[in-house]
Amino acid sequence: MDFADSPQEAEFRRELRAWIDAQRPFPPVPADDDERVEYLSDWQRRLYDAGWVAVSFPEHDGGRGLPAVYEAIVLDELGAAGAPPVWHYGYVTRVIQMYGSAEQRRRFLAPAFRGEERWCQGFSEPGAGSDLSAISTRARLEGDHYVVSGQKVWTSEAHWAKWCLLLARSEPDRRRHDSLSCFIVPVDSPGLSVRPFRQITGSLEFAELFFDEVRVPVSMRIGEAGSGWRIAMSTVAFERGPADVGFIADFRRVLTHLEREVGEGRLRAAPEVLSRLVWAGIEVEALRLHVLSTLSRRARGVGAEDEMSIDKVLMTRADQNLAHVAVDLTGAGALTGQHPSILHQYMWSRAASVYGGSAQIQRDIIATRLLGLPRSSPRPPETVQVAD
Ligand SMILES: Cc1cc2nc3c(=O)[nH]c(=O)nc-3n(C[C@H](O)[C@H](O)[C@H](O)COP(=O)(O)OP(=O)(O)OC[C@H]3O[C@@H](n4cnc5c(N)ncnc54)[C@H](O)[C@@H]3O)c2cc1C
Repeated sequence: MDFADSPQEAEFRRELRAWIDAQRPFPPVPADDDERVEYLSDWQRRLYDAGWVAVSFPEHDGGRGLPAVYEAIVLDELGAAGAPPVWHYGYVTRVIQMYGSAEQRRRFLAPAFRGEERWCQGFSEPGAGSDLSAISTRARLEGDHYVVSGQKVWTSEAHWAKWCLLLARSEPDRRRHDSLSCFIVPVDSPGLSVRPFRQITGSLEFAELFFDEVRVPVSMRIGEAGSGWRIAMSTVAFERGPADVGFIADFRRVLTHLEREVGEGRLRAAPEVLSRLVWAGIEVEALRLHVLSTLSRRARGVGAEDEMSIDKVLMTRADQNLAHVAVDLTGAGALTGQHPSILHQYMWSRAASVYGGSAQIQRDIIATRLLGLPRSSPRPPETVQVAD
């Protein structure tokens, strides 16, 4: 594919760059959780009001109806400028746009784009992560409501969210994958308790959700009853594609910062560490180009959701190597609190090989669904050629 901008893309990029320049200086993203959420919500509102969020969503859903590659230009420019990223639940808005009713799209998309209403994703449970179809949360139909009971875990940012995209078993008599449905549930619903817990980063990133006979109107189900598996798989596929979570902008922001610190002599390191910084830059760039080609195929209506597992593997490697070299560059300062964001990024990067589906599961998807390799060898080969 041609990675150069078309004249229209170049014009879009120029306008965006001018807008970003007018927003400088960018205050650092606060370390405190509540302040960070406020800061990013405010930034998201400014981005959306200026027309830089959801650019590839249809105009009637609050977007600009541009091809998906324009999303990559936004991330490119934010990252290159060292600006804060877009809010990272773009994948939730994608599935509401794809599967939601006209009423749901009208109600939920614009406030999410603007950062006014935050979301969380209630899929994983204590007994179901990689094997997501094994969830045991039930949604029992009673008249015009479902009654939901069960427990979710690892629910990121639930305590700041207004809405939960919930996966629950509503059709227990059907085949496992046809028995699930997706719902939009207000996080402050009666019977729903949210118990945040603190991570090693010090952040209250996750929560456990306990549903005790929570009543959810039928109108809050997304799609048909029993179509939850399809919707959940689309959700995690978009979550794995870094374009929809804004990570590339974040990586480039860190990279730009480190390059500047090294270039201006504030950070010094052995040539071996500097060479790893260069490699980290190459990995971020490889990820950026791969995401660009994923988005370009998406714009042409080709390319499978499974391909986003490749982006996820590339993203995990870029994230973890960049964070590792950042810690080595900042040395003791990263550990003693002189560079708190670097240490935070390092610890957070360790989770990249787990959230959105573990690294092993992504490799499994690439091997079996994209490369067509067998799930397992049925029996050992009868003859083995041994090289002399
Ligand atoms: C930072 C973070 C944020 C998260 N946010 C959310 C969220 O907002 N909402 C949500 O619903 N979930 C969230 N999760 C949960 C995440 O999706 C799960 O942790 C992940 O899917 C793995 O599931 P599990 O933890 O149950 O591990 P398990 O499925 O028990 O896996 C344990 C280990 O076994 C390996 N394994 C399992 N099955 C196979 C297999 N078939 N082949 C090879 N290896 C296998 C896995 O790779 C892993 O290494 C989050 C997780 C993290 C770390």
